Amino acid sequence: MTDRSHALLLATVATALIAIGGNARAQGMTEIPDVGSSPDWVIAIHGGAGNTSRDDLSAELEAQNRADLKAALEAGAKLLENGASGPEAIVAALTILEDSPRFNAGRGAALDEHGQARHDSSIMRGDTLAAGGIAGSSRIRNPIAAALAVMEKTQNVMLRGEGADWFASENGLELADPLYFITEHRRRLLLEKRAQNPGTTAANVQDNSVFGTVGAVVLDRDGNLSAGTTTGGRTNKRFGRVGDTPIIGAGTYASNTSCGVSGTGHGEYFMRWTVARDICARVELAGESLEQAAETLLVEMLLPAGGTGGVVTMQPSGKTVFVATTANLKRGVMSSSTPARVAVYSNEEVQ
Ligand code: ASP
Repeated sequence: MTDRSHALLLATVATALIAIGGNARAQGMTEIPDVGSSPDWVIAIHGGAGNTSRDDLSAELEAQNRADLKAALEAGAKLLENGASGPEAIVAALTILEDSPRFNAGRGAALDEHGQARHDSSIMRGDTLAAGGIAGSSRIRNPIAAALAVMEKTQNVMLRGEGADWFASENGLELADPLYFITEHRRRLLLEKRAQNPGTTAANVQDNSVFGTVGAVVLDRDGNLSAGTTTGGRTNKRFGRVGDTPIIGAGTYASNTSCGVSGTGHGEYFMRWTVARDICARVELAGESLEQAAETLLVEMLLPAGGTGGVVTMQPSGKTVFVATTANLKRGVMSSSTPARVAVYSNEEVQ
C-alpha cells in the first residue's frame, strides 16, 4: 500500500468509529517518510501527540516547536554520523527536548495532583534487548540519561522514586531542584484541569486532549535499532501514578528482529494493550507490515476502547512509520541521506 492509501484507510476506519462509538475523531494519520535507500543511520523522534488545533497553537510556539525538533534531530544525527551507538544518539536528542520548556519532559513536564513534576523514562537497545528506566523521579535533571545509566550500570531494568534520584546522584548525573521543572504554562494547565474536574485525578478522567511526551527511535551505523521515551506523564495525575513510558513493551520497545517503537498517548491503554511490544510481535510473528501493525494497535484496538495517541516506529532497514489517532503528532526524521524534516499536525507531511 502507498502512504496515501494508508492515510485513506486510517481516515476511513476512524470515520467508521465515529459512527459506532461517537467519541472517536477522524483526525489521525499514517506517514512513511522517505529516508533514502539503505541509509547508514536514521533518527526519528516525536514530541507528543495531542488534539490542540492550529487555532490553539500560536504561530510563535509552533515555530519554536519545529526548531526544537530540528535541533534534537541534528544533535542525534551528529553522533550517529560519527559512529555513536543508538542509545547515545537518543540521549543527545531527547536531552534537548527535556531541556526545552515546551515539551512534557524534563523542564516543562506535566504536574501531578500535588503540583510536582515526577518523571518517567526508558531506553532499550535492539541487539541485546538491554533496557533501563526510571519512574516517578523528581530530582533528575535529564531522566533519559538516568534511564541509560540504569541500562548500562545495573543488572536491573527500572528504578523508582527516591531510589532513582539516589542512583542518579551516586552516578554523577545532574540533579535539579524540583522547582526547576515547573513552568507557568504547566501550573496553569493543572489549575484548569482541577477546575474542570474538582476532586478527581487524570487517572480516572477520560481526557485525550493533550499528551506531549517525547521519544526517539534510531538505526545506528552498526545496524542496531534502539528506542527511548521520556515524560512527566499526565496533568493532575494521581500521586504515585506511573504511565506507559518507563514500561518496556508498553511505551518503548526495540528488537533487531522486528522493530523499534516509542509511543505517546493515553498511557493506561498503551500498558493494557502492550502497544510497543505488540506492534513488533505482529511484524515478527504475524508477518504484518510496520504500518499495518501500528494501525492495528492504534486504530483498530485502542481507538474503539477510548485510547488515543501516536507512535514512531522503525525497522532494521531504516523504514520509518508514524501513526497517530490525534490531530497532531509533533515529529521529525533525518537519515544519512535525507535532511532533518519536521511536522506538528497530522494533516501535514514532514518537511
Ligand atoms: N503516555 C504518557 C503517559 O500516559 C503521556 C504522554 O504521552 O504524553 O504517561
